Amino acid sequence: MPPRSENDHFDFDFIVIGSGFGGSVSAHRLVEKGYKVGVMEMGRRWTPDSLPRSSWSLRRWLWRPKIGLRGFFNMRFFRHVTIFHGCAVGGGSITYACTLLPPPEKVWEAKSWTGLADWKSEMPQYYQTASRMLGVTENTILGPADHLLKRTAEASGSGHTFYRMNVGIFQPAAGEPGNQTFPDPYFGGEGPARTTCLSCGGCMMGCRFGAKNTLDLGYLYLAEKHGAQVFPETQVTDVKPLPGASDGGAGYEVSTVKSTAWIRRRPQRFTCRGVVFAASSLGTMELLFRLKEKGSLPAISPQVGKHVRTNSESLIGARMPGYHEDLSQGIAIGSGIYIDEHTHIEAVRYPNGSDTMGVLTTILTNGRPGPRRIGLWLVNVVKSFLRHPFHTLRVLQPWGWAREFVILLCMQALDGHIEMRWQRTWFWPFRKFLVSRGDKVPTYIPKANEFAEKFAQLTGGFPMSMLPEILFNVPGTAHCIGGCVIADSSTHGVVDARHRVFGYKNMYICDGSVVAANLGVNPSLTITALAERAMSFIPPSAQNEWYDTASTWVQARARGPMEAAGNARSDRFRSQLIRERVA
Ligand SMILES: Cc1cc2nc3c(=O)[nH]c(=O)nc-3n(C[C@H](O)[C@H](O)[C@H](O)COP(=O)(O)OP(=O)(O)OC[C@H]3O[C@@H](n4cnc5c(N)ncnc54)[C@H](O)[C@@H]3O)c2cc1C
Ligand code: SF4
Repeated sequence: MPPRSENDHFDFDFIVIGSGFGGSVSAHRLVEKGYKVGVMEMGRRWTPDSLPRSSWSLRRWLWRPKIGLRGFFNMRFFRHVTIFHGCAVGGGSITYACTLLPPPEKVWEAKSWTGLADWKSEMPQYYQTASRMLGVTENTILGPADHLLKRTAEASGSGHTFYRMNVGIFQPAAGEPGNQTFPDPYFGGEGPARTTCLSCGGCMMGCRFGAKNTLDLGYLYLAEKHGAQVFPETQVTDVKPLPGASDGGAGYEVSTVKSTAWIRRRPQRFTCRGVVFAASSLGTMELLFRLKEKGSLPAISPQVGKHVRTNSESLIGARMPGYHEDLSQGIAIGSGIYIDEHTHIEAVRYPNGSDTMGVLTTILTNGRPGPRRIGLWLVNVVKSFLRHPFHTLRVLQPWGWAREFVILLCMQALDGHIEMRWQRTWFWPFRKFLVSRGDKVPTYIPKANEFAEKFAQLTGGFPMSMLPEILFNVPGTAHCIGGCVIADSSTHGVVDARHRVFGYKNMYICDGSVVAANLGVNPSLTITALAERAMSFIPPSAQNEWYDTASTWVQARARGPMEAAGNARSDRFRSQLIRERVA
């Protein structure tokens, strides 16, 4: 064990980059193990009072600091996909819809992580811990949109698959009203007081009542309470090994700037012994591409950016002008169904008044993507105007959208991936950007469109699609995963089965970028469970020899199922033993 004074040369033992699901789990578990932890977070800190009242408050909703938008929700536009993601203290949890589902077991059977651990027997305990920490319960609040989903499922023969969503929300007891405050219900009194859910449907605009189990009220709250230092509005721009060991064995220097400043960006430098990248799939890819290219971390695997998955999603829905009930009531995602073995649909809503997404929805159009589909869409719009001029006008304008619209989020557990590269673009050749490459992701899922049509038929509404999907053949997703996947070696991925980065010491990735398969369900529970598992291998501070290096396939396979409390010393002995055996 290194004497404590040796570590005292460093500002922190660990710096965690990003405070979303992977970052908050890492910060909490590392603090618990006795480490001094700094968390660098690009986004702002939010409180119920500072959150926007509706999505019309663009300044407080959207994240584009260079033009004065300092919210928590970001949209990134690529040739193959539009990616929605969160950016805040608490990461995506501030804007997420709190759906927390485990994926089917078959996701562990394929792709680069297969055989690197006994995932099927190891993961359930981590899903259990993640579920307890995120306060997962079955949704008891079904809103009108959920009842409509059920009715349509019954009418189309899949009624038996209807289920109430598993969510991370503090719900009122049966028969009790919402908006009641109680002392910490989750962490034996260690956590903050909480207020019960009002079913306002506002989860994706940030919960203004303290009912959603966001990370700043859970993992991150506990980490801070026990000593982690969180730096909001602090963007990491560089990570490089300290002089003396190019593999990071002597520690790292982490450089940051103020993310919300234009001119006085307040550059800072911190030193640490270990680093956890947890900046989300896009954020970590972007950072690693940049750092590899500028020579700060040249040994990062060339596999960065490969195997990026979008959960094969399509957003469709139905708008019911003048519907007798307020369809925004309930929780953001209250229920789901399966229309076949691979295709999962969830009923999603925004809160009353948050109508901005309405500008992106239009009349549903079937058919293969391309100019013919655009032509067909124009014909559909004209036909609809001729048949129902007043109603068509009403469904195409955004006001009242959230009250009258049910979004149907369709996800398929089918494989398919794209690649992200770090390149100049023809329209802005002065610097490099993330750009997407590969086969197009399908924007048209015929069965999902049929379901939307049925949904609208039953309710007397209009089936709708997303305008960018029709015009540009680009699907939208809030579930971008992969890009730095778990694999047997740096030839196939970026981290090993314990999330250790190939080529560096004491460096880990704990976020959606390590996920190696399409999950077919919302990914946050899996990201949390994987981070719990990764952290379980890091020894307590007093036993850390700061020698943790990624194992290659031979070592990992020979080891068999990995024990939950990893220890760097025994790890090294085993590696040595295996090397001897192999020799
Ligand atoms: C509207 C919406 C609804 C969603 N609903 C659900 C849902 O119901 N269920 C579900 O499972 N998932 C949902 N998701 C997806 C979910 O939010 C993400 O899968 C999850 O947050 C990813 O976790 P993560 O740990 O990979 O990173 P994140 O939670 O995205 O956190 C990464 C953090 O790193 C920060 N960061 C990035 N780069 C840097 C840098 N250079 N320096 C410092 N900080 C940096 C970012 O600001 C961000 O806060 C939703 C997403 C959106 C956008
Ligand atoms: S429905 Fe409203 S009160 Fe309930 S968790 Fe979501 S935002 Fe909070």
